[in-house]
Amino acid sequence: MKTIPELFGSKAFGEDTMRARLPKDTYNALKRTMSFGKRLPIEHANVIANAMKDWAVENGATHYTHWFQPMTGITAEKHDSFISPDGNGSVIMEFSGKELVKGEPDASSFPSGGLRATFEARGYTAWDPTSYVFIKDNVLCIPTAFCSYGGEALDKKTPLLRSMEALSKQAVRVLKLFGHDSVMAVKSTVGPEQEYFLIPKEYYDKRKDLIYTGRTLFGAKPPKGQELDDHYFGVIKPRVSEFMKDLNEELWKVGVLAKTEHNEVAPAQHELAPIFTTTNIATDHNQLTMELLQKIAKRHGMVCLLHEKPFAGVNGSGKHNNWSISTDTGVNLLEPGETPHENAQFLLFLCSVIKAVDDYQDLLRIAAASAGNDHRLGANEAPPAVVSMFVGEELEAILESIENGTAYDAKEKTQMKVGVHVLPRFMRDTTDRNRTSPFAFTGNKFEFRMLGSSSSIAGVNTMLNTAVAESLRVFADELEAADDFTDALNKLITRTIKDHKRIIFNGNGYDESWLEEAEKRGLLNLRSTPDCLPYLLKEKNIELFTTHKVYSEVEIRSRYEILLENYSKVIHIEAMTMIDMVNHDILPAISSYTKELLKTAAMQKEFGVSSYEAERAKKLSALAGCIYEKVAILEEALINVSDKTDLLEEAQTYKSDVFVKMQELRACVDEAETITASDFWPLPSYGELLFGVR
Ligand code: ADP
Ligand code: MG
Repeated sequence: MKTIPELFGSKAFGEDTMRARLPKDTYNALKRTMSFGKRLPIEHANVIANAMKDWAVENGATHYTHWFQPMTGITAEKHDSFISPDGNGSVIMEFSGKELVKGEPDASSFPSGGLRATFEARGYTAWDPTSYVFIKDNVLCIPTAFCSYGGEALDKKTPLLRSMEALSKQAVRVLKLFGHDSVMAVKSTVGPEQEYFLIPKEYYDKRKDLIYTGRTLFGAKPPKGQELDDHYFGVIKPRVSEFMKDLNEELWKVGVLAKTEHNEVAPAQHELAPIFTTTNIATDHNQLTMELLQKIAKRHGMVCLLHEKPFAGVNGSGKHNNWSISTDTGVNLLEPGETPHENAQFLLFLCSVIKAVDDYQDLLRIAAASAGNDHRLGANEAPPAVVSMFVGEELEAILESIENGTAYDAKEKTQMKVGVHVLPRFMRDTTDRNRTSPFAFTGNKFEFRMLGSSSSIAGVNTMLNTAVAESLRVFADELEAADDFTDALNKLITRTIKDHKRIIFNGNGYDESWLEEAEKRGLLNLRSTPDCLPYLLKEKNIELFTTHKVYSEVEIRSRYEILLENYSKVIHIEAMTMIDMVNHDILPAISSYTKELLKTAAMQKEFGVSSYEAERAKKLSALAGCIYEKVAILEEALINVSDKTDLLEEAQTYKSDVFVKMQELRACVDEAETITASDFWPLPSYGELLFGVR
């Protein structure tokens, strides 16, 4: 039995392995590439490829793959074996620098949102040396970016890497002004908390809705749901605990720093959080985590549901994106400091985030938009669809005191002045957990809580990094031009607070009154995916992305199309699945049960006994009639939407028409379920799904 330190990273080509297996000059060259994005010469790539191959083969790998993250939201891989003929009828194991650095998967079947029409269909994958190579199922997986031959990003990773570069560039400028000349790079860091459900596999297998769409499209409310709040942080069931143990080991092997795990609010719901790391590694690791969650659940006879809302009436699953920025010298820039000077710097970075979130509320909302997450945002369990920021009462009071030049502490008459005062040692302890805020400052990082559980974290971090890079660019421009730095800094901070304080809200985000207040403040309330996606094409957003070279205009437009198309497709598949289930399983089941009831009723009539069966049969027949009618209406809505040629109009129609009809159909079916004998109902019930893992 291996110890955890022995296990950890045993299947990742991490720091220690690199240092042990690479010649010193190659190792140094690779480190330079990893830290500062320096180009890696091919001779070093050859040496690295060979070392990776030897290590991989020793660890049982036979194949390698360029592992990438296309716009489908899941990872893609195509395996190639290491074997190469030696000319004498045998094979040798080979892997060259060229194969490590570049791959050419057929790009034509991945979503490209119109890019294919404009550019060559072929694409290539390029090694991302900043993320670690790992072994999964005897395959050496090389994290890569995926681009078209024209250089357009076809994946989620490329824009993320570009946004990290943009952030680094602007943050380094600002840090120079504070005298930190030795800082060469700044990185955003992320620790994503992942929620998920575990249900018994034998029940999952009986539900086409779960199989095709990841969520239940029908299901009457069980007698017990989450009312008692007895699941949250409760004792973990032995079967789940076995699963978690297994999962942790697999995650540790590939170098994922899985740290905490606990039960969540809903029955059958759990959460896993890793220790934070650099954003692009965190992104890769979160994808790996989602993959392993699903794979290992199966090993334990369960299925892991990553959908944002698998069950109506029960809390859905999110992913909390804990985000901060640190220097290459290891300083967290969102950590309040010990000296007035450090605090002035902290306040400036804090202001950069406040400004970014206010100016680009729409982008953060878009980053969390998907058909699945629309069920959560704005429902009473996840943050509302309005983007706002929580900074805690004390920090808000400090910001106010700076803005107005008034006393921060009424008793002591202290007035907070940038660059003069040390911030009180409050934040760590008193930034309480406002769980209703979409974007909360938690002492030395921000927690973005709108993201859905199945989403890649690449999108939101791309948006965040870029928006903050823009704030910092504006700040650096102004401060670099100033004669008196401290004075300019004071003015800048005060003005930024004044201009952007509307985004700060410390109250209860679930409160109806907040939505009114938010509207008064002029904040956006973009309720659904089709409502928010058009904002992606706003001129200010295109300008943001092109200025920082994160997306070209063509790339933004292609993403817009992909996101809209995806939304429509998801609802289309859900509607088709409902129709299939009703026609093949649900209506026949109701008929069989009705027939059974009528048989009994007829016999009873013969004997002159009165019975409930006839009444029940009547009620069920009426519901069956209703279901039959609603299916026809839904089918008609699908025909209607198929006429739409404009992508936005199509998505809007799916939302306002098809989706509404789906809910009407569901209501009739769920009612029928409550009065049909379990033996006849073709689907495992909510009770079985939610309480079936024992
Ligand atoms: P809390 O329980 O207060 O939310 P934790 O320390 O448990 O805080 O952190 C929650 C998540 O935030 C973890 O994944 C953690 O690694 C991550 N995190 C902590 N510090 C940072 C940071 N500086 N940057 C990014 N993520 C961080
Ligand atoms: Mg947290």
